[in-house]
Amino acid sequence: MQKGFLTTTIGGRKIEHIPCPHPGVPVDLKAPAVGVLHTIEGSLGSGLSVFQRHFAPHFALDGRRIIQLIPLGVIGCACENRPGGIETNRVVRAQIEIAGNSQKKSWVPDAETAEALADLMATLERAAEIPLTRPFADKMPPLPWATVKFSRRGGRKWGTTAGWFGHVEVPENEHWDPGALEWKTLLARAGEIADDNGRALASTNHQPRAVKPPNPIPDWFLVWLNWRLGEGKFKRFGPHDMKHRPKLPFGGEGQKPVPVWAWRKAGEFTATRRGPHP
Ligand SMILES: [Zn+2]
Repeated sequence: MQKGFLTTTIGGRKIEHIPCPHPGVPVDLKAPAVGVLHTIEGSLGSGLSVFQRHFAPHFALDGRRIIQLIPLGVIGCACENRPGGIETNRVVRAQIEIAGNSQKKSWVPDAETAEALADLMATLERAAEIPLTRPFADKMPPLPWATVKFSRRGGRKWGTTAGWFGHVEVPENEHWDPGALEWKTLLARAGEIADDNGRALASTNHQPRAVKPPNPIPDWFLVWLNWRLGEGKFKRFGPHDMKHRPKLPFGGEGQKPVPVWAWRKAGEFTATRRGPHP
């Protein structure tokens, strides 16, 4: 898992930094990777005025700003944790407080906030290994939720299941945020953002540069080089006319481009000819 402050989301949003007080206790990385979502029950500004004194989560956001308050790797402070009982903040890799108010009927945040949240969740899938899944269905059990006795807090999911929880599903806590959130919609959007940006980016990053030629040089290289230069059996066709292209594993229509090492080697080959002959 990545530690410290993030600078951008995988969707390209800027992550601002407003460091807030926290006890500096490391997150328990042996526990399943969990994230907890809260609603500020007000604006981002009203949340920040509290978090700068206490109870800060790792991230707070609205439709315009994503702000990181606590570095990844240490615990956030937005859940209650009673002495003795079950570990709450200690096993949560990322807590997010979003601007707005929880609702008892099925709801999603406004479009901009939902998009920023989905982007941050997709980012945390990679940075903190929190899967884009939920241990519970979207349909909430009957009220009351704002009690430590609420059934979802007392089940066996906490501490055994990875994914995203609402504060309403954290043991030893009484807050009921984010209420009857439409998690499915949000997590599906986060998955799309991960596919569009994260996974594509990750695979390009991992592609070998292939600057060094393989050993031994494959047979097709000389065939390709002769064709490029219009030499050998390609002489009568002149230089690399696509009409007379030999059968090659690279560089044709719909094929992968000729590897970087091959171009480099071809350059070396012709460069040695440019000098004066003895
Ligand atoms: Zn909360």
